[in-house]
Amino acid sequence: MTILLSAKPVAESLQADLKGRVEQFRQKTGRVPKLAVVLVGEDPASVIYTTRKGQQAMALGMEHQTLKFPADTAPQQVQDAVTQLNEDPSVDGILIQRPLPKTFEEESVAMWVAPEKDVDAFHPVNTGRLHLGLRCFQPCTPSGIMELLKFHKIPVSGKLACVIGRSSIVGKPMAALLLQANATVIQAHSRTSDLRALTLQADILVAAAGIPGIIDASYVKRGAVVIDVGIHRTAENKLTGDVTFDEVSPLASAITPVPGGVGPMTIVMLLSNTVQSAEIRGK
Ligand code: NAD
Repeated sequence: MTILLSAKPVAESLQADLKGRVEQFRQKTGRVPKLAVVLVGEDPASVIYTTRKGQQAMALGMEHQTLKFPADTAPQQVQDAVTQLNEDPSVDGILIQRPLPKTFEEESVAMWVAPEKDVDAFHPVNTGRLHLGLRCFQPCTPSGIMELLKFHKIPVSGKLACVIGRSSIVGKPMAALLLQANATVIQAHSRTSDLRALTLQADILVAAAGIPGIIDASYVKRGAVVIDVGIHRTAENKLTGDVTFDEVSPLASAITPVPGGVGPMTIVMLLSNTVQSAEIRGK
């Protein structure tokens, strides 16, 4: 029987814990943890994600604020606003919604949010600490995947994991977290010469290539745990992933659905990082 690695019970359990911690923090300090989101432009998906982040923060009793800027705003003006948020003691977490307009240089933007409020984990200090195995904010999608594996009691230590993708926000931190959990990790990417030969060895296969249906049954070892990070909208307006679910699920010992697998974990982890930031700052 294939285990469906559904986010729902994991998210609900984490949300219940966070709600309790928010209330404890309120009793201790007289305020609640606050997330600030910076949105530049009106990318439709970003507007939806930003709204969801605010709604879920409020559902946990947290405060949130969204700063909206038109797409043609000068980067300096947005940076100044982020600097003010860095200095505002009532703000615990700051997230700059991606993608940003082309006038913004990603390398420089990654350093705008102070590392201690960088709940989206983009700052090189957090990235560096993650790869050194030091305490830090962890990128939300990979840390959400680790929570999914933990909740569903999927053993990681000693397993061979193959991560497809090497982006800064998914592939690389995913490989780092699996390595920290004592998996042996293969990191595949667009220049990997024989992807199938590698994925067929994997006990845990994480697909984050951003290509709909790239992983069909011929890429999956019988009994593997399959994590699908991809999110794509079909012509029929349905959500689908990087994995051909119907073909792969009979082979897998466990698999994430799309939607309802990795996706919902990301916002929960963002709010978890924000509560953690408030607790660390303790005021
Ligand atoms: P990205 O485009 O930045 O990175 C894709 C990676 O896949 C690259 O490192 C590339 O080398 C690799 N790749 C591309 N083609 C490949 C191939 N043929 N074989 C092997 N590797 C290949 O994307 P990303 O930001 O890492 O996101 C990946 C996917 O995950 C996207 O579909 C994105 O929408 C989704 N995503 C989902 C969540 C979530 O919350 N569920 C969060 C972030 C991203």
